[in-house]
Amino acid sequence: MLASARIQAWRTPLRGRLFSPEDEGYDEARRVFNGMIDSRPAAIVRCAGVADVMAALGFAREAGLPVAVRGGGHGVTGSAVGEGGLVVDLSAMRSVRVDPRRRTARAEGGATWGDFDHETQAFGLATTGGIVPSTGIAGLTLGGGIGYLNRKYGLACDNLLSADVVTADGQWLTASDDENAELFWGLRGGGGNFGVVTSFEYRLHPVGTVLAGELVFPLDRAKEMLRFYRDWSSAAPDELRADATLLLGPEGPVLDIIVCWCGELEEGERVVQPLRSMSAPLLDTIAPVPYPVVQNLLTEVFRPGLRHYWKAGFMRTFSDAAIEAIVDSFADDVPSPFAAIAIEHLGGAVGRVEPQDTAFAHRHAQYSVLVLRMWQDPADSSANIAWGRRCFHAAAPFLDEGAYVNYLADEGEARVRAAYGGNYERLAALKRRYDPANRFRFNQNIPASTVS
Ligand SMILES: Cc1cc2nc3c(=O)[nH]c(=O)nc-3n(C[C@H](O)[C@H](O)[C@H](O)COP(=O)(O)OP(=O)(O)OC[C@H]3O[C@@H](n4cnc5c(N)ncnc54)[C@H](O)[C@@H]3O)c2cc1C
Repeated sequence: MLASARIQAWRTPLRGRLFSPEDEGYDEARRVFNGMIDSRPAAIVRCAGVADVMAALGFAREAGLPVAVRGGGHGVTGSAVGEGGLVVDLSAMRSVRVDPRRRTARAEGGATWGDFDHETQAFGLATTGGIVPSTGIAGLTLGGGIGYLNRKYGLACDNLLSADVVTADGQWLTASDDENAELFWGLRGGGGNFGVVTSFEYRLHPVGTVLAGELVFPLDRAKEMLRFYRDWSSAAPDELRADATLLLGPEGPVLDIIVCWCGELEEGERVVQPLRSMSAPLLDTIAPVPYPVVQNLLTEVFRPGLRHYWKAGFMRTFSDAAIEAIVDSFADDVPSPFAAIAIEHLGGAVGRVEPQDTAFAHRHAQYSVLVLRMWQDPADSSANIAWGRRCFHAAAPFLDEGAYVNYLADEGEARVRAAYGGNYERLAALKRRYDPANRFRFNQNIPASTVS
């Protein structure tokens, strides 16, 4: 535990707040989205601005503490609040400034996608971002960032123009294609390994009304519909993203296909029509809607504080056999209340960037597969985790060796290497340069000591 004199000395230069374990508000401040996380950091510095971030990193160096960085607090491993570390909490730094003429936005490191969409949509603009509004822009972008616009406009990180970063030694710098370009490369897929990003500058695109909504089918038609979905979605124009999710809805287990078309509406109607007329759905809500409507479709489902199990990979072969295995594993003893296997639609612009051009290596992937469990009661943990493992095991033969760093749980070093893929050694060199003491180690960590 840190001495109270030291804590007191640290409070003085801050514009924001410091929470030590004795302080009121500490328990609230250490809570993250995943209710399974119960880490007790040595101190939490809720920063009011860049100066506080610099000060907090100075405290960590002085006390020899590892640093956790909190953006939106959605990371499933709870890395935003590392046990015994010093948390640089950016949750009070959420401003978003839009430049409608240049079609850019600069957002602080604690902003959420809800904050971001709210500000950019006032100008009819958007960029690829998370599909649940409470997710942080920071963690999501630093790991790559998939979202409904990814096939048209690339990953969130592909739309990053620059980032302001405070490095482990307390230096403030800007990273872009023109300045600190190697760091800029690493920030686009390398996770939170290199420093605290205090603000992100994004390229924006005109996105107003989209054709979007859900098509829900009973589970007994899931295999047939997934075969159709695969053939239809793999040939679709970039304006379409369609995710197919097996889940437990109010009607029982179903296949839920969420569609978002961000192009010209009439063409979208034509593209979506074959899916709509393939087999009578239980529900069809597809209609022209403002973009924030589709961004909010899952808000109620993803309530903070639930317990989470995630396991994910990229589809290698989306064969009939893969569909059989995935649907059968889901149908076998689905535990309630929220179990899902989501097939997310990649490709398009995501794949037109070379794997070595940004730190996000998995450019070839056409679909991501995410096994997801959420539950409330700790007593249900082992049943839920066992179900998740079984489903992932069934899907695994059809997945490639890679992993999406933002969907990774605590899965060991081999999986972390798989997540950074062919870019691992270059990222390790960057880590040695910017964080040789591995101060930022609460993340999908690239240890600075990695031997090339
Ligand atoms: C409900 C839900 C929905 C999701 N939807 C999507 C989705 O649509 N698309 C997608 O791609 N992913 C999605 N994810 C995964 C998401 O990308 C990761 O959980 C990501 O880490 C969230 O970022 P955050 O800032 O909220 O996380 P945090 O938990 O705050 O941070 C996670 C890690 O990111 C790093 N980090 C965070 N902020 C900073 C910063 N400012 N500077 C440096 N490092 C930082 C740190 O290493 C930190 O440990 C979702 C997750 C959840 C729980």
